[in-house]
Amino acid sequence: MVDYRAFFAEKISEIKGNGQYRTFIEIERLAGRFPTALHHHKDGPREITVWCSNDHLGMGQHPEVVAAMQRSIERSGVAAGGSRNISGTNHTHVLLEREIAELHGKEAGLTFITGYAVNDAVLGVLGKLLPGVVFFSDELNHASMILGMRATRAERRIFRHNDPSHLEELLSAADPDVPKVVAFESIYSMDGDIAPMPELCAVAKRHNALVYVDEAHSVGMYGPGGAGMAAQLGCADQVDLLMGTFAKGYGTAGGYLVGDAPIVDAVRSFAPAFIFTLAMPPALAAAALTSVRKLRESDNERILLHHRAQLVKSLFQEAGIPLVSTESHIVPVLVGDAHLCKELADRLLEDHLCYAQPINFPSVPRGTERLRINPSPVHSPAAVRHFVSAVDEVWDDLGLPRVPAPVTGS
Ligand code: PMP
Repeated sequence: MVDYRAFFAEKISEIKGNGQYRTFIEIERLAGRFPTALHHHKDGPREITVWCSNDHLGMGQHPEVVAAMQRSIERSGVAAGGSRNISGTNHTHVLLEREIAELHGKEAGLTFITGYAVNDAVLGVLGKLLPGVVFFSDELNHASMILGMRATRAERRIFRHNDPSHLEELLSAADPDVPKVVAFESIYSMDGDIAPMPELCAVAKRHNALVYVDEAHSVGMYGPGGAGMAAQLGCADQVDLLMGTFAKGYGTAGGYLVGDAPIVDAVRSFAPAFIFTLAMPPALAAAALTSVRKLRESDNERILLHHRAQLVKSLFQEAGIPLVSTESHIVPVLVGDAHLCKELADRLLEDHLCYAQPINFPSVPRGTERLRINPSPVHSPAAVRHFVSAVDEVWDDLGLPRVPAPVTGS
């Protein structure tokens, strides 16, 4: 007889043994005080600074975003009351969908309860409806994209990360008459690197492939009005379908798709992950709408984000602390060992009240375990200096290796 309890207990001890067990700490965000939060520690609550939040611009606590959500709750209550196609579509969803379509210069938009659901839904619909479709997928694509494609049983060919010439090779070898979808991200969250989007789009277009881009890590933070990396790099018109999330730059929650109206309507009509689930709460749509509008109106948050990220990177580099070479606002500090990475994070929290989450295999390859630091406009320069000197101190205590600081100046 199967002992289910023992079976799963064994599974957990296996991942605890090999450093893959995902830990978390219990925090409480404090309204108006991000990046400060309360850590519910075993010895009682204490204030910490969060360095690993996806609320990259602090919009989750922006007074106008908070007020928009409060007003919407007073008017509409807390939930949508139904799925999108059955009583759940609120006026605010429609306004939000128009806003994002306009932001990206596309015909139509559709919002989802999460960004994860967007990838699953859209790639699933493309895989199921396009006869004989072949996906061409970057090898480091996010799990939600991979699962969306796999669920369809459509053929999937993997191109080397950010490599347009490999994509060209694979597309050239494919039957010119079958439908093709090229799927990649604009910024990869683990290394913070940026895709060569114009080149990838040009290759895809030469082979008449549909271009699907996940801009989860760039919308709100890059491009004119926060329209993302494709807009920044001048190839937004080459992207057929763009997904974004409200859960990172916009500081709220939910995901979205923009693109040609018939394709977006097909997703609305065929995707189980859109159809068979509750609509996003109207208050969340109201908060997301305000956040999108604020970040369209002003570049301030974006400018500050990139200043802070630059400051963090240069201080780490001066201290000889190894970083994964990153071109974006994401700063991965390379530790290279799961246990030491956890120890570093534990010490930062216990001794310096700084919270940075270790990132381990399978999220990153073994031997490249890291702390992924997400600086934001609301981390003051003084907080940045405190954090870097805390990492510096623990780095020494753990005997971690340094790298030479880059030579700067003329
Ligand atoms: N795509 C990428 C590249 C992501 O990193 C994530 C979230 N980590 C998602 C999609 C899912 O977004 P959400 O959190 O809105 O579900």
